[in-house]
Parts: sequence; structure tokens; C-alpha cells
Amino acid sequence: MSVRTNTLIIGGGIIGVSIASSLADRDVMIIDSGEPRFGTSIGNAGHVVVSHAQPFAAPGMIAMGVKSLLHADGAFAFSAHLPLQATSWIASFMRNCTRRNVEKFTPGLLSLLRTSAELIHSSGVTTTSTPTWEVFTSHKAADQARVESEHFSHLGIRSLLINRSEALEQEPSLTPQVKAVVELGEDFGLDPRELWQRLRATNPDLVFHSHELAAAIAPSKGRYLVTTTSGMQITAENIVIAAGSWSGEVGALLGIKVPIIAAKGYSVSVPMPKGTNSLHPMIFADEKTATGPLGDYLRMSARFELTHPNDRSIKEKRIRQLYERAATVLNLPLIPTNLAELSPWTGLRPASADGAPYIGPVPDLPGVYLATGHGLIGTALSLGTADLISRYIRDQAVTPAELALSPRRFRH
Ligand SMILES: Cc1cc2nc3c(=O)[nH]c(=O)nc-3n(C[C@H](O)[C@H](O)[C@H](O)COP(=O)(O)OP(=O)(O)OC[C@H]3O[C@@H](n4cnc5c(N)ncnc54)[C@H](O)[C@@H]3O)c2cc1C
Repeated sequence: MSVRTNTLIIGGGIIGVSIASSLADRDVMIIDSGEPRFGTSIGNAGHVVVSHAQPFAAPGMIAMGVKSLLHADGAFAFSAHLPLQATSWIASFMRNCTRRNVEKFTPGLLSLLRTSAELIHSSGVTTTSTPTWEVFTSHKAADQARVESEHFSHLGIRSLLINRSEALEQEPSLTPQVKAVVELGEDFGLDPRELWQRLRATNPDLVFHSHELAAAIAPSKGRYLVTTTSGMQITAENIVIAAGSWSGEVGALLGIKVPIIAAKGYSVSVPMPKGTNSLHPMIFADEKTATGPLGDYLRMSARFELTHPNDRSIKEKRIRQLYERAATVLNLPLIPTNLAELSPWTGLRPASADGAPYIGPVPDLPGVYLATGHGLIGTALSLGTADLISRYIRDQAVTPAELALSPRRFRH
């Protein structure tokens, strides 16, 4: 089959469907390879975190990573499946854990996160009615909460210190381990599957081909010809690479080197425990775990394990650790004997080498755009990313802070 389109988006996760929804007035097509690659965007924790405006590569991350690696159940880990090429990504990430990196990307990330949050609210998706809580349990909890709150006020992000008794009054299911809470005034939660479905449906004319894997891309008379493994041929004026953890593989089809690595995370979902209000999505700062209400369910997620992009294996041990960590903060029932009752799941975060996403045109390849590398915050950045890509495609203004996120920053 041979078809034509104005804009072809490679990858139909949350970033792909968000971009398609922002270009709803155009002729847009998405191809997605389907299972087993598809799915990270609909099974994640659904936190929309304006508070996460700092890039993941920042001072303190190396020390935190090393500390975590020394513990068998640390939140950060290397998998045995990690490809050899990962060493250059790791070296580059370590080099980028600097104050300069933070100053370079924070303004653009904050602006995109705020745009995203606003557009997500107006998309009509169901969101939690109460903001997210960051919860502290260590003996230094009070100091940690104060420092965190000062950090947010420095960035101009709304936050509020909540004392322990007030937190317990609002959420009686918190355990006595909880010592301090910071309310993140601009953050909220949602069901990522509902957001994905809603955005996919925004443009009724959107052509979405599932189970089509881009296998070759060739320039052709000022356009691009994309061939899929099933033999479909698509001619497009613009190509957006939104292939998550596989964006490096897709970029290579055009000779572009995209520094991306897959970071596996786990989640479990349980019926909302009795006596839990769970009005608030929560981030457990010391346990490096997040929980979020999804209707009658509570979802918990954790772990950042660098691995191969085909590795979505589920280890029973990790599921237990995740549940036990969440149980430090919330009064949960005993872990079921049959772990399948927890609906265990893994997804792959597309992690960039400087902890900030790659969003913008690819130098020297007119009409080719990257929208990838969103790491821990792809849902949160979804519609902000889409708004920026659509302004690039329409030749509209882009701010210097947004320009910092463009792929111009790495050589290919
Ligand atoms: C446990 C966990 C919890 C998380 N919690 C949150 C959270 O609370 N908030 C938040 O903002 N983010 C969260 N994230 C991160 C978020 O899920 C990701 O950043 C986001 O899903 C990335 O979206 P994407 O569209 O770039 O990638 P993906 O969802 O991976 O989509 C990429 C798509 O490209 C397709 N594809 C790949 N190769 C090809 C090819 N050659 N041709 C065609 N199609 C191809 C795949 O099938 C896939 O569907 C979490 C992630 C995990 C794992």
C-alpha cells in the first residue's frame, strides 16, 4: 500500500497522540509498532508534575545513584540486559549532572509543563480534585520538606508545608512513619489511559495505523518515504520521531544519533484500600515511590532501571519491594499471596543523556522533528511538547528557553 500525508508521526504513545491532537487541522498520520513496544504511556502513574521542572541530570544525582546501586533494592539500577552502547550514555549523563545543565533547561521545562497542565485541564480529561503531596519519612524529614519548599518558591512554583497532624486529618491512611508533607499546588493526577484515548480521538480524521513498524526512511523529492515492515509506503512532508525508547533506532534510519536509553519502571494497581481517602496523588520522597488514585484503584510505581528497550520482564522480588515501600507510608492490606492480583506491569521511560527531552527540528534534515526523551515526565509534558512541535511545523515563534530543548544540542 502507498499513501501520502502532510505529517507522519512515528510512535503512537502519549507524545505522538498529543502532537496529532495539536495538528488537528492538518492531514496527519500515526504509525505505531504496537505490542510489545506499545504501552508505557497508558500504564504509568499519571502524575502531572509542574514541580519537576528541573532536568533529571542535576547535581546530587551521581551520589544518589551510587548510594542506590549499593542497595540490592535501590530505586536506581542497571539491568543485566543493558546494551554495551549504554556506557557512552552513562558517561554523558554523568558529565551533565551540573548546575549549568539545570540552569540551561529549567526555564523551558517549567514553561512547557505549565502549558501542558493548562491544556490537559482544558482537554476535559478527569483529573484529581486535590493537588499532589510530597511525603517525607526520614529522620531529616522536617529539614527536607523545608528545603524542598524553598526550592519551589525560588522557581515560583506554588507549594505549601503541611504539618503532620493536619496531613493525618486529611488522609487518615498515612502511617505514623510520615513526618512531613509538602503540598505541590500546581500538580495533579489523572488516568494516563483516559488522556491517551481522549487525545487520540481529538481529530476524528486522524489516521492511526497500529502494528506498523518503521523499517526504512529515505529522502524523496523534497519529502520522505517511509517503509514499514509490512511493506506499507508512506510519503510525508514532515516526519516527527516520537518513538519513545526506540527513538534512537528510528533516528538511525535517517543517520541521526539520538542519545536515548530505556529506563524500566514497575507499577502495581490495587482496589482502593478501605479507610483510604486517597484524594491526593503522592510522591514518597524517601521511598522513591509514587501513588495515584485511578477511580476505585490505587496505582503505585517505582524504580528506574537502565535496560534494553525489549526488556519488559517482571521480577516478583521487585513487585514485593514496590508494595512494601508504599506500605511504609500508607496503611495497606497485607500483600496478597497471588501477586497477579496486583496487576504487575512494567514500562520503559525514554531517558535522554542530559535529563531534558529533545523537542524540535533536526539540523540539516528539513521537515524532520524529534519529540522524545521525556523520561519520567512524558505525560506531564505531553501537550506542552505538542504545542511546541506544532509551532515549529507552522513556523511560529519559539522562545529562547524552548530553543534550549531542541536537538541542535547534540551532534549527529
Ligand atoms: C512506572 C512508570 C511510571 C511513570 N509515571 C509517570 C507519571 O506519573 N507522569 C509522567 O508524566 N510520566 C510518567 N512516566 C513516564 C512516561 O510514561 C513516559 O515519559 C511516556 O510514556 C513517554 O511517552 P512516549 O510517547 O515518548 O513513548 P511511548 O509511550 O513508549 O511510545 C512510543 C511508541 O513508539 C512506538 N514505536 C517504537 N518503535 C517504532 C517504530 N520503529 N515504528 C513505529 N512505531 C514505533 C511504540 O510502539 C510506542 O507505542 C512513567 C513511566 C513509567 C515506566
